Formats: sequence, structure tokens, C-alpha cells
Amino acid sequence: MMDIKEYFSLEDYNTFSIDATCRYFVESDVEEDFVDFVKSYELSSDDVLILGGGSNFLFTDDFEGVVFYPRMKGCEVIREDDEHVYVRVGSGELWDDFVAWAVEHGYSGVENLSAIPGHVGATPVQNIGAYGMEAGEVIAQVEAVDIFKGGKVMIGADECHFGYRDSAFKRGWKNRFIVTYVTFCLNKHFTPRLNYGNVKEEVAKLGEVSLANVRKAVITIRESKLPDVKIWPNAGSFFKNPVISRAEADALKKDYPGLPVYEVGEGEAKLAAGWLIEQAGWKGKSLGNAAVHDKQALVLVNRGHATGLEIACLANEIKKAVFMRFGVMLEPEVNII
Ligand SMILES: Cc1cc2nc3c(=O)[nH]c(=O)nc-3n(C[C@H](O)[C@H](O)[C@H](O)COP(=O)(O)OP(=O)(O)OC[C@H]3O[C@@H](n4cnc5c(N)ncnc54)[C@H](O)[C@@H]3O)c2cc1C
Repeated sequence: MMDIKEYFSLEDYNTFSIDATCRYFVESDVEEDFVDFVKSYELSSDDVLILGGGSNFLFTDDFEGVVFYPRMKGCEVIREDDEHVYVRVGSGELWDDFVAWAVEHGYSGVENLSAIPGHVGATPVQNIGAYGMEAGEVIAQVEAVDIFKGGKVMIGADECHFGYRDSAFKRGWKNRFIVTYVTFCLNKHFTPRLNYGNVKEEVAKLGEVSLANVRKAVITIRESKLPDVKIWPNAGSFFKNPVISRAEADALKKDYPGLPVYEVGEGEAKLAAGWLIEQAGWKGKSLGNAAVHDKQALVLVNRGHATGLEIACLANEIKKAVFMRFGVMLEPEVNII
């Protein structure tokens, strides 16, 4: 059923706990409600914002437009063969509930993505990734409501142009589609991916290499490294790990031998943004009520009553410091409104 609220506070709807309001808040668990709504109004991409769990937003001001909040539910196997199972999941389901379901049923492909906050609907937009796995690898199809054309659409994985924390939904399609359902193609046979971070060591502590133990290991690692959003409101990694040319990375490595550099394709290399921030002297530092977490320099936290602007100012200072020291420009991973 559709519910429309006016001048609605988003404080409980973003993990930075910023008290910004939106002009209209439109929520429903029925696709047709969104179709009817978007057909009734002429909306541009600047007028709308689509919200999931709000774990990747920083509101620096009130939002004068319409916030769509899709709450489609359900998790259903729609097709299977000897190798794969196709699961259609409502965009309003919690991502980690879906991962738990997959692991319980013995389906692999998302276990390394355990405990990432947010809703299923955001996963094709963000192409979430962790510990050597990305959601884009297992997304088969996306169902959505086209805000501008006013109808339902089916979008194939190849049209989504998944990249590192990136997809067509963040670029040319920004704010155009309300994702309602996502179909994932999971594997019936388990091929563990342990060669990232200390997943292998953590699994070894638990015993056999099983789906359940990989999930447990990932959760343990994340809990030891990341601040709990309920205590330290945050949006996970604030910046993307910068991708630069191999030649630039080699030159930096000469000056800073400790710099972690990862191969990402021909002629390119990815740097650890957290390391750059720490070396630039910002780990554990604060600016007003906004702070850089003392265990994980990539995470900015609200120390209590920070405004979105305070957090954005801190992010800018960090960007400047990293650029001055390393000549590398950090790009936010978080959506800044
Ligand atoms: C503690 C913490 C740890 C994190 N760790 C990771 C990590 O390891 N890896 C990682 O990739 N991310 C991580 N994140 C970031 C975040 O959890 C993911 O980006 C997640 O997918 C965001 O989901 P959400 O539902 O909260 O989306 P939101 O923050 O609400 O939205 C994110 C984007 O998706 C769009 N969107 C959301 N729902 C829909 C929909 N139904 N239809 C169309 N567009 C939609 C929004 O418009 C926005 O552009 C972390 C965040 C936190 C707070």
C-alpha cells in the first residue's frame, strides 16, 4: 500500500543519522503504486531520490524533492538447473538477510558479501563488493519502474555495465529507475574465494572450509574492523580506493615503499585509500562533531550531533591533505546530497 508523507525527517533512514527532511516521502511495497505516481507527475532526475537503507548517503541539506522508498518483499527460487539457481528478491529485503538465506540453502556467490548494510534494491546500483566478490557477478536481471517513461522494465545484467562500485544506474541512468526486484544467479557448487584480506586465516580457525564458515569469518573480520553504526553513525568507506595508472603507482611506490598497490587490469593499479588517509595524518582526527575512525581511516563517523556539512567539510580536508601529500585525488563513494 502506498503512503505519502510531507516534510518527513530522514534521520532514521540514513546510517549517518543526519536529521534532514524531504519534501515528499513516497513508500510502497507495490510496483503499480510507483508506476501510477510517476505517471501523474512530470519528474526530472533532480526532483527525485531513491532510498534504500540509507547506508551510502550523506545529507548536507534538506531535500526539496520526492524520496521514493520501495519496500518490495520476498525471496523466491524462480528457475534452476544442475549448476545454478535463480532467486528473485524484493528490493526492500535486507541484503544480509538474503545472504544468510543463500548460505543456509547451500547456494554460493554472495557469502563474502556478508554483513554489508542496506537493501537488496541498492545492490545493482552500487555493485557492492567485499573480500574479492562483487554483487554484479551474480546479478542476472533487474526489474524496475522507469520514473521518466512511467512503466515497468526488465534490465539484463549486461546492460548494467558493472564496474568497481559502479553501474549504469550511477551514471546515465542516475535517479531514473526505482529497482523493485533483483534476480540473482547463485551457484549450487561451492568454490571458496579466500584469497582476500585474512579470510583464509579466519576460516582456518573455524575448521572446515564451508559456506557457513566463510560467512562467519567475514562477519568476524568486519565486526573487528568496522564501527557499529548504532554507536558510531557512519556510511562505511567514505572514499573509493583510487585507481591510477601503473606508471604513477610505480613512481609513488618508489617514494613510499609501504604503499599497498593492487593490480586491476592492464596499465592500471588500485591504491588503498585508508592507507593514504592514515599517512596524511588523519586517522582518529576530528573536526567538530565529525571524525575519522581510529581503527579504520576510510570510515568517517558522526560523533554525536554532527551536521552533514561538518562531515562533508572533514571529507574535503582529507581530500586536500591526501592530494598535497601524494598527488592522488580521492573520490567519495558516498552519495552526497
Ligand atoms: C558499516 C558499513 C559498511 C559497509 N561496507 C560496505 C562494503 O563492504 N562494500 C560495499 O560495497 N559497500 C559497503 N557499504 C556501503 C553500503 O552498505 C552499500 O553501498 C549498500 O548497497 C547501500 O545500500 P542501501 O540500501 O543502504 O542504499 P542507499 O544508501 O539507500 O542508496 C545507495 C544508492 O543506491 C540507490 N538506491 C537504493 N535503493 C534503490 C532502489 N530500490 N532503486 C534504485 N536505486 C536505489 C540510491 O539512490 C543511492 O544512489 C557499507 C556501509 C556501512 C554503513
